[in-house]
Amino acid sequence: MQKKIAFFPGSFDPFTKGHEDIVVRALSLFDEIIIGIGHNSSKARYFPIEKMITWIEETFEGKPVKVVAYNNLTANIAVEMGANFLLRGLRNTTDFEYENSIAQVNRFLVDGLETVFLITSPHLAPISSTIIRDLYRYGTNIDTFLPYNINT
Ligand code: ADP
Repeated sequence: MQKKIAFFPGSFDPFTKGHEDIVVRALSLFDEIIIGIGHNSSKARYFPIEKMITWIEETFEGKPVKVVAYNNLTANIAVEMGANFLLRGLRNTTDFEYENSIAQVNRFLVDGLETVFLITSPHLAPISSTIIRDLYRYGTNIDTFLPYNINT
């Protein structure tokens, strides 16, 4: 049978416990998960991409999880990487509105590329990369929101 490979795209600036929860739960549905950090050279990141790749790899050591950085259309890179599903998390209706259109477009671009959504675990729903970035920028310790240690 064909391996079930999911491509989990995002900015992951930073990758949070909310993202980790989606990946851990998806590991019971898929044989392999590829986390794709989308980056655009004209849009500066806050957390360096190379560091983020290492931190995510550490988080899933020993699990069938790969991490890649990409600068392309998500649907194209997913196919290039051999993925047959896209994986996304849904926190609220705002996420839904956006995800709905993106999923339709991705399926239009690549016939049969299905997006699988996991509903956020309630205790992680308030976590967003944007808020965590702001906390960090103004000197707040963000360790509790991250599945890896950024201080080593
Ligand atoms: P993007 O810039 O593509 O929205 P993000 O890195 O913010 O990328 O998020 C990647 C995916 O993870 C999205 O599907 C988003 O809805 C989901 N996500 C973000 N935060 C959480 C969370 N706390 N719980 C579950 N899913 C989340």
